[in-house]
Amino acid sequence: MHTLTAITLRICRRLNLLVLAWPLLAHASLPNASNVPGGIAIVPLGSTSNGADKPQTWLGDQPVLVTSDHDQWYAVVGLPLDMTPGSHELSVKIGSETKPESFVVNPKNYPEQRVTLKDKSKVELSAADLARAEREISAIKELKRHWRPAQDTDLAFIVPAEGKLAGRFGLRRFFNGEPRSPHAGLDVAVASGTPVKASAQGQVLAVGDYFFNGKTVFIDHGNGLITMYCHLERIDVQTGEAVSKGQLLGLSGKTGRATGPHLHWSVVLNGAMVDPELFIPAKDLQ
Ligand code: ZN
Repeated sequence: MHTLTAITLRICRRLNLLVLAWPLLAHASLPNASNVPGGIAIVPLGSTSNGADKPQTWLGDQPVLVTSDHDQWYAVVGLPLDMTPGSHELSVKIGSETKPESFVVNPKNYPEQRVTLKDKSKVELSAADLARAEREISAIKELKRHWRPAQDTDLAFIVPAEGKLAGRFGLRRFFNGEPRSPHAGLDVAVASGTPVKASAQGQVLAVGDYFFNGKTVFIDHGNGLITMYCHLERIDVQTGEAVSKGQLLGLSGKTGRATGPHLHWSVVLNGAMVDPELFIPAKDLQ
């Protein structure tokens, strides 16, 4: 009897474990929704169980990532920092039918950040530097709009370097008192030479050495999700290479326009720069 009870208990515990583990194994995790400029809207698109194909969605002419979670399809929409608050529409194609799906963007006032740069040549650009920076900005713009269809995209990121989260996303920046574009990434305070790792699996979309961003790696995670790792001292990967989550991409540094060594990490979703913290599971954010 004693043995039977023990066995029964053990079976129950096993079943419990299975029941608990099942949802974790069966569903992709969604990023945190934040319906503000620079955030992410998660728009439900209906049940996955009616046998219909995965819906296709667009924001304007830019395709949008679609994933499933708990038997529902969701569009995971990157909201550009300059998006006007109010009602917006996605174009959703299910089977042969295309219909609009609306979502709301709320206003957000990001805090100000005032930065003093001693190297004035990085603030007041010479004609040659300006021409170079403009060429690079349009090349980077193309990279951000890149779309590679992928079966599945891992939406639970790791922070790519061990360090304090410093300059938060969205800060309205002033360099030497002059207003500049907002901070479209997250800064991790690390010394030069700190390992920088891929936040999720993907392919190296490009590597480069840019006037503002310095030595930079772009990782394409599929379906319009791209991460950028900037100001590196050393790059250890090549364009086209497949990378796994946590794989070493290079070492942190202060190349380009940086006040000191740090990792600037950006996340691009359907061409929009969004807050990287939305992709970090809450338990990993200190
Ligand atoms: Zn930064």
